[in-house]
Amino acid sequence: MSEADCIFCRIVRGEIEAKVVYDEDDVLAFEDINSKAPVHVLIIPRQHVANLEEIGALPDTVVKRLFEAASTVAEKLGVRDGGYAVTINNGRDAGQEVFHLHLHLMGGRRLGMP
Ligand code: AMP
Ligand code: ZN
Repeated sequence: MSEADCIFCRIVRGEIEAKVVYDEDDVLAFEDINSKAPVHVLIIPRQHVANLEEIGALPDTVVKRLFEAASTVAEKLGVRDGGYAVTINNGRDAGQEVFHLHLHLMGGRRLGMP
């Protein structure tokens, strides 16, 4: 899928609305439209990379900032102390639907491995 069609690139460009909870130079976070937990946020690099197979295209600083954003968003949304899960669905068997790398941040209820 090209960046023109990518739904998360369209959110980055402001063509599709999203409930943005974190907005920085390299990283954006917004509420998942189909929330699976009281807090369910997607954290993305503004730069399009499909998944972990393309992560080499991201500057190291951006990879770090994705995870720093997770901690910042968790605190902002009140789940940092209680704990939260950060997951990546990578590829077909993981059920990846949107091929723009993203972290799911989920919290506010007990979470575990499937
Ligand atoms: P996955 O690729 O399996 O990590 O799942 C993609 C996630 O993106 C799902 O949890 C969807 O609910 C979410 N999603 C899809 N479209 C949007 C959108 N326009 N705004 C917010 N979340 C979305
Ligand atoms: Zn994209």
